[in-house]
Amino acid sequence: MKQALDRKSERAESGYRQQPGGPFFSKAPPAVIQRAVHNGTDHGGNYQFDDTACTLTYNQDWYYHFPASMNAAQQTSYMNSAETQVNGVWSRKHKLRPASGACSCNANGVDVDVRLHNHTDPRNGRRGFDVNVEHSGTSGFTNQPVRTVTLGDTHDTPVNLGATTQQRIAHEFGHTLGITDEYVGWAALGLGHSDTSSIMHSGDDVRPRHYQHFADLVSNEVEGCRYRPEGFSSRALVNPVAQLGITSGLTLNNAQFVIDLRLNRRIGNTDILGLATPRAGFEGLMNTATGNFMFGPTFDLSLNRLAHPLYVDVGTGMLFDPEGPGNRPASLNIPFSATVGARWSGFSTGINYTGLIDMLHNAPYTHLVGINLQVDL
Ligand SMILES: [Zn+2]
Repeated sequence: MKQALDRKSERAESGYRQQPGGPFFSKAPPAVIQRAVHNGTDHGGNYQFDDTACTLTYNQDWYYHFPASMNAAQQTSYMNSAETQVNGVWSRKHKLRPASGACSCNANGVDVDVRLHNHTDPRNGRRGFDVNVEHSGTSGFTNQPVRTVTLGDTHDTPVNLGATTQQRIAHEFGHTLGITDEYVGWAALGLGHSDTSSIMHSGDDVRPRHYQHFADLVSNEVEGCRYRPEGFSSRALVNPVAQLGITSGLTLNNAQFVIDLRLNRRIGNTDILGLATPRAGFEGLMNTATGNFMFGPTFDLSLNRLAHPLYVDVGTGMLFDPEGPGNRPASLNIPFSATVGARWSGFSTGINYTGLIDMLHNAPYTHLVGINLQVDL
């Protein structure tokens, strides 16, 4: 967002004003840097998107707990290796490109730099991950919702998997972004199941599909611009910024045909527990049998990153239905809705249930069941 200011140029300018005789600005004012840096957070880290330099810097803080078997020098060496693995495997692998020529960084795309920051003090509720290094642990494990990574004390060197080797710490980092394993059975539904050299399978290669989260961060910062990783990926992996949904259904009470329109937008980039994307929007619901029309604000949680291509949306809101002809009284309805479906490229379809409670007690409790279609905007 544009109001998310220009921190770099602000800093440069205040530096000039406060230290006119300083070593850098003593002769001439600094060149005007019209640079907007968008700062934000996601579930596990923070980022800076510079829309002029066209770089996205993604940072994560890791708070290590080492076993007693490792001395201080070994701990430092281990943390340095972790940093090297994550920065090396994940940085600058693919450009992020906007869909429209009018968007920032259209010419050369956005470079992604990934930086791991190591700490040995307790995390104490701060953003970032607890990293438990275990003596003779062999498999890594990441619990993204509670932000914990478990590693073996030998993972500072690549794991030999026979046909391939893997920098396991870099693999676990992928899970901290919410990316799931590609070698497990149900991954056959998505991409990468046979891509053994992929970082989320058995190798070290970061594919364009693994950059979707970074593209989603930038898309949410630049209003009206949709960024995607350059190369082969799938729009089914996108966490869309804005969506338009239409549900057509029947009331279970009296089989009246209802059409519901819902427009919503992602609230920030920080998903709840790394899984549920909060969205705010507006909904209008029309009963075609009676002509009643109710409308109002909505709040939704999308669990569309849980198991691609499946998704679950749950939502509520407040829908006002004004007084109708024949002295039909107004009602103020709280909807509870749940949709389960599947996502493809740029759209999704599912089955929706909605229940409506009238807070004014003028309308009966209403159940609706329908078919939902959502389009990414
Ligand atoms: Zn894994």
